[in-house]
Amino acid sequence: MKNTITKRKFEILRLSVTSNCNFSCFYCVPYKKNNLAENKSLNAEEFSRLVYNIHKINPLKMVRITGGEPILYSSLESLIKQLKTMGIQKISMTTNGSFLYKSIDKLKTAGLDEINISLDAVNNNIFEKISGFNNIDVVLKSIEKALEAKISVKLNCTILKNINENQIIPVLEYAAKNKIIVRFLELMKMGHLVKNHEEFFYPESKILQTIREKYQFSALKRNKSSTARYWCLDNGSIFGIIANHSTPFCSDCNRLRMDARGYIYGCLSVNKGFIIENNKENIRKNLEDALSQKQTDYFTGSTLPMKSIGG
Ligand code: SAM
Ligand code: SF4
Repeated sequence: MKNTITKRKFEILRLSVTSNCNFSCFYCVPYKKNNLAENKSLNAEEFSRLVYNIHKINPLKMVRITGGEPILYSSLESLIKQLKTMGIQKISMTTNGSFLYKSIDKLKTAGLDEINISLDAVNNNIFEKISGFNNIDVVLKSIEKALEAKISVKLNCTILKNINENQIIPVLEYAAKNKIIVRFLELMKMGHLVKNHEEFFYPESKILQTIREKYQFSALKRNKSSTARYWCLDNGSIFGIIANHSTPFCSDCNRLRMDARGYIYGCLSVNKGFIIENNKENIRKNLEDALSQKQTDYFTGSTLPMKSIGG
């Protein structure tokens, strides 16, 4: 389904199955807030019914399961199976990796095609300072297990000024050594940091400059609707940057979001989600409304934390 005015359409759904998380990354949740509070999610059948209704009217190429921490969602396997059964080509997931090593085989068998694992540092002290989680080894073990399971893996590394910019090269080298693509993320103006985002913002230009001090690289062509732009190092390793603020990609964004309550959002810049209705005409109208939420140029910021709206 295309918006007749903007000619845009949704092709990817980001589904935040839970807003709960066992980490408290300081850019995602306020300091020391209990992030495991009992926030309710729809069950797998309820999510599946909503996604199926959307998919019938607006065929989706991919669903990315995210959160919060999606592995905390107890019906994850069943949900993946149901999404696969309805004919969605690609199911991917973004995770903090802390429990993944235990469930990777089951999730792959259920139909999971691809995983993004967040790794903001390879130094345990810096990792803990950011995430509140003091065992980076289990995350590294999950990455190894995912590679062993021969599932497609990418790394996400959010860069914060004066916190982990010294991890750009170590994370890049860790990724290259393991033949994984890493994407560095600019901090987005969201949640509790919406007002003091500048304090921690580390721009794409500086990430590139840091890498250039050690390596030579060349730019690759951007695929339409891609959030990341990619570069290839002279040694053949590829890295990307998701630069929401410096190099916005809003103009061809094809993503729809759904939160753990089943509310949909056409754009991260919009704080207001709405419930998708149950008959064909209403769903069509809901999707049109969500499409009209899309920004034409750049992300304007949101008071919602990424963990609620689905990163
Ligand atoms: N818990 C999972 C994880 O951390 O991978 C999935 C959800 S998390 C919200 C998804 C991604 O969003 C993570 O890579 C995280 O670093 C990123 N993220 C969260 N808040 C962000 C922000 N304000 N700016 C940029 N990236 C952010
Ligand atoms: Fe949890 Fe992911 Fe948010 Fe970190 S970024 S607190 S791991 S939801």
